[in-house]
Amino acid sequence: MEHAPLLISGGGLVGLSAALLYANRFDAVHLLEKREDPEYQFSREARSLQLVISARGWRTLRKIGLGQQIQDNSIALRGRTRHSDGETFFEPYSANGDTISCVSRNTLHRLLTESVLKHEKISIHYNQQVSEVFFERKALNSFRNDKKTHWRYSFLIGADGVRSRVAQALNGNGEWTRNLEKNHYREIAITHAPWIRDTFHYWHSTHAMIGAFPVHEGGFSVFLVHRNEHMEKLLNDSDSSWFESLFPGFLGDVPDARSLFAEAVGGFLGSIDCRHWHHEEHTVLVGDAAHAMLPFMGQGLNTGLEDIFDLDIQLKEGGAIAGGDLHSYIASRQSQAKAIREISEQQFRYLTGKFTARDYALKHLLDDFVAKENMPSTYMACAFSLEPFSSIWEREKQISASFSESQIEHQIQVDRLTAH
Ligand SMILES: Cc1cc2nc3c(=O)[nH]c(=O)nc-3n(C[C@H](O)[C@H](O)[C@H](O)COP(=O)(O)OP(=O)(O)OC[C@H]3O[C@@H](n4cnc5c(N)ncnc54)[C@H](O)[C@@H]3O)c2cc1C
Repeated sequence: MEHAPLLISGGGLVGLSAALLYANRFDAVHLLEKREDPEYQFSREARSLQLVISARGWRTLRKIGLGQQIQDNSIALRGRTRHSDGETFFEPYSANGDTISCVSRNTLHRLLTESVLKHEKISIHYNQQVSEVFFERKALNSFRNDKKTHWRYSFLIGADGVRSRVAQALNGNGEWTRNLEKNHYREIAITHAPWIRDTFHYWHSTHAMIGAFPVHEGGFSVFLVHRNEHMEKLLNDSDSSWFESLFPGFLGDVPDARSLFAEAVGGFLGSIDCRHWHHEEHTVLVGDAAHAMLPFMGQGLNTGLEDIFDLDIQLKEGGAIAGGDLHSYIASRQSQAKAIREISEQQFRYLTGKFTARDYALKHLLDDFVAKENMPSTYMACAFSLEPFSSIWEREKQISASFSESQIEHQIQVDRLTAH
């Protein structure tokens, strides 16, 4: 007898990867995707053109058999180049010379989609928007224009991103912390820039930041982040002096940047924390649907890929759960998501110039301490290891708490002197 299928709401990067990872456990997999066609296109909300893949992301991509192909289409980065008042400062990602890989979102999406379309057990249904979920009956309705389709499932994965319908059905109105509207984001592709190609480049200012990733296929992908209320004035004022004061020298490198950003489609950056990630043993949220986060550690997708890797260990034939219980999986993933969300928020404050003198002093004490003790920095551990985010974050907090007030005060004085 044929069993009800695995249903996946959302054919983004995590949904496509989950379909490939789990297909052999089910008689059939149906991916329901609200977009119209298999081509990845920008929606009204812009998304990053480039994605950094770290150790936990690679582990999943290798498991679904695409590691080599994706590696062949990626570019290796040694660290960050900070641009400040016409000078550049190199900050390596790793004390050991490790590099991280950067790949275009389009390429990743295309490679995953091609594999899904070739897979005999997976069917992908475009223009199907999941709208109503009936957990008790293990069923849902999707709509194509006004036409309703009713689906039954043995297991349901909600991989439908920041505005997940499955997450809404699980959480109702009251179980969310959404922080999506404050920071505006634009991204442009440029073909020429006088920057070295094996680092990420950034220019930061109070509340604002520009970042540039080299693109494997050529040129750079450049993004701008600022508070939502300032973006319009920053880009559309007749006078570019405010832009110049925030990012000195940038317009010398990319003279038409302001008009390119002004024409680019915008999006918001934010995070989501929802309380309920599953229903009994047959419905689970993964990826941004469960834990969208600020992107400054480059871990959003990597965390989603780690969700599905860990779920793979629990998921058995036909959707049964090992030990009959999803609770320990959910508890573990929620604590990882909480930790990386907090690490990402801290990185965001650092990269957009929101650190106080005390924050900088603590960071410098911490950097010196881990270097002296030959320990990985928080960034290194997140990017290059599979150590749980919760243990990385706990370690950073413990080390920071071990510095005395007089050490911090002394470091603040040292920072003041070295800044002048
Ligand atoms: C500026 C920026 C930079 C980033 N950089 C990095 C990085 O370097 N490294 C990294 O790891 N992560 C990065 N991220 C995060 C990464 O983009 C996301 O974590 C990742 O795309 C999430 O994938 P997903 O499949 O969970 O969700 P999505 O990519 O949002 O996919 C969800 C899919 O579900 C579909 N959908 C939505 N609602 C429905 C519905 N009701 N019915 C059917 N289908 C539906 C959507 O059309 C979409 O295709 C970045 C994010 C941003 C914004």
